[in-house]
Amino acid sequence: MKFNHSNIKKAKKYLDQNKCIAVPTETVYGLAANAYSTTAVKKIFKLKKRPKSNPLIVHYSKLSNLKKDCLINDKFQKLYKKFCPGPITFVLKLKKNSKISKIVTSNNKTLAIRFPKHKILKNLLKILNYPLAAPSANVSTRLSSVKAEDVKEEFGNKISYILDGGKSKVGIESSILSLVNFPKILRLGGLEVSKIEKVLNQKIKIDINPLKNIAPGQSKLHYSPGIPIRMNIIKPKKDEAFILIKKRTDKSPNYYYLCKNKNLKEAAKNLYSCLRKIKNKGYKSIAVQKIKNIGMGKTINDRLYRASNK
Ligand code: AMP
Ligand code: MG
Repeated sequence: MKFNHSNIKKAKKYLDQNKCIAVPTETVYGLAANAYSTTAVKKIFKLKKRPKSNPLIVHYSKLSNLKKDCLINDKFQKLYKKFCPGPITFVLKLKKNSKISKIVTSNNKTLAIRFPKHKILKNLLKILNYPLAAPSANVSTRLSSVKAEDVKEEFGNKISYILDGGKSKVGIESSILSLVNFPKILRLGGLEVSKIEKVLNQKIKIDINPLKNIAPGQSKLHYSPGIPIRMNIIKPKKDEAFILIKKRTDKSPNYYYLCKNKNLKEAAKNLYSCLRKIKNKGYKSIAVQKIKNIGMGKTINDRLYRASNK
């Protein structure tokens, strides 16, 4: 991992020129640009080939800066105290006088925001005069990036700069919680829903139906390695890559393990690198063992299910 203050300054220089760069976060790498500049954020959509109807998450390091752009409420404050910075994105009401580019919100009156935990990104945000719009650093529908090399694989020389922050610690996207009306989960992610429920002391509706397509993280094909995936498999086909939740004694070169010991958090962290490795080895299809649908297992199954759609 190569990073120092001069890299952070370099990143600022590119961003101040309205360029789009890759930044490390604890969830996955982001493709970042000045959220107040329409010129800058347009570049994100172009690079990602992202539909204009899919709004971006905006990243902050200070609550006082967020308050310039969004209306906050009691529920937000409780969750902010407990989980920020961390892998949770909130959808809040946008303030009328906010400077956020309309392109960021797809012209909606709500804004998705997050306080990332990665030290390098936090230091970068502190020296900027604007928040950063940053969706995941991958071409639309493809696998998210969890290290600088993945970003290079996605965009090659099309990207001005990659701020290297090592491998993402959570390794899977943030959970998205809408607090616009009643609390509602729009995307399962790096923070378990039960933990949010405990703080708010209420059951939270999970609204991730891919057919309704409110948040495009919910769209049918997403997070895809570009080859077919079959789920809940006991015995894989010959020549098929087989993803297992933990190491087994019967070995095969086609077996790939998500973790040593059935730890679902560790499995989530390794999911995208495992899928990328399999894709790059040239397999034609992937089989996945059944993964328990509890805690982070729910997020893993959600990603695999969307990646398996045609
Ligand atoms: P990405 O950063 O690429 O993982 O994508 C950001 C996710 O946040 C997408 O699923 C968006 O649809 C979702 N999102 C961003 N802004 C909003 C919003 N205002 N309301 C609902 N979802 C949003
Ligand atoms: Mg994404």
